[in-house]
Amino acid sequence: MNAKPALISAQALVGAGLIDAEAAKQAESVGRHYAIRVTPAMAALIDSYGEPIKKQFLPDISELTQMPEELSDPIGDDAHSPTPGLVHRYPDRVLLKPISVCPVYCRYCFRRETVGSAPAMKPTEISDAVAYIANHPEIWEVVLTGGDPLMLKPPSLARIIKQLEVISHVKILRIHTRVPIADPDRVSPELVAAVKGTGRLSSYVAIHCNHASELTEAAVKAAALFADAGIPLLGQSVLLAGVNAEIGPLEDLMRALVASRIRPYYLHHLDLAPGTARFRVDISVGQELMKALRGRVSGLCQPTYVLDVPGGYGKSPLTPSYVQASEKGNWVISDPFGQEHRYPPPVAGLVDD
Ligand SMILES: *Cc1c(COP(=O)(O)O)cnc(C)c1O
Ligand code: SF4
Repeated sequence: MNAKPALISAQALVGAGLIDAEAAKQAESVGRHYAIRVTPAMAALIDSYGEPIKKQFLPDISELTQMPEELSDPIGDDAHSPTPGLVHRYPDRVLLKPISVCPVYCRYCFRRETVGSAPAMKPTEISDAVAYIANHPEIWEVVLTGGDPLMLKPPSLARIIKQLEVISHVKILRIHTRVPIADPDRVSPELVAAVKGTGRLSSYVAIHCNHASELTEAAVKAAALFADAGIPLLGQSVLLAGVNAEIGPLEDLMRALVASRIRPYYLHHLDLAPGTARFRVDISVGQELMKALRGRVSGLCQPTYVLDVPGGYGKSPLTPSYVQASEKGNWVISDPFGQEHRYPPPVAGLVDD
């Protein structure tokens, strides 16, 4: 465990030299609406890397200005919650949110109205959620999210996973976390063993990381504890102005993830959470970046660029298009270097039905 405590107030940020007394007043008013938490590991990164890390974790007065298009529940969790703490949007998978605490509070958080303030699920609510999953044979995968499920103590996490393991139709357990990055010391052999359970479920760990510098030696070691235990690692990043929305930093991030055995999964376009406008870029910017990545880096380094459609309509890929229908059934395909090529339709009469 960390010797130093996390910084959870404007005063603590001043004490650590991260903000000055002037900024502290504003940070205090932001802190009344949205929780503040910066781990010693992330505070050290702010010292060495500056803006791209600072912007993710240090409160800013603009957070108190909500744009008309911003929503308190941008991805519509509430609209698809059959029982508290559970979200069932897609037939074959559910989100289970056992706790709402995180190791850090990201200033662009999509669940910022609840994360850091809502209570943890009560044991009876966990049982209700487990009963719902058991009663829905179409549920193949359970995604633990929150908050950050790896903030649970290993025995508490193990207890939840044990309840899922006995539901025979559940095959996959996915855990979304920022702990290996933000508080790597928390990743212990006990925690990894809890995630693995008896092995009855195939466990995946999806790690939230937005800048190559977040993959410190300690973070890479923490991630490796999961990978060495046979748990595949996925990367999740959010496209953020001032953090990674340029080709250099984005390329470095994807390469650093893959080099750490974390396979990029999603690059999220920013959700419309309140007070996050300073992070938002246009979708066309994200599409140009995806095109640039395609030409420059290995296929292993290509995440899917997605948007959680505001209002709870699910995730849609925002992938730039490389193909267009053309005359006489032909297709026109753009290569990653910008040239166009023709691809023909199937040959009539020669294809089996
Ligand atoms: C994002 C999300 C999932 C997981 O979606 P994948 O595309 O499988 O990663 C599942 N349920 C809800 C409600 C979600 O928002
Ligand atoms: S780790 Fe995820 S849930 Fe937690 S504050 Fe950051 S974005 Fe929100």
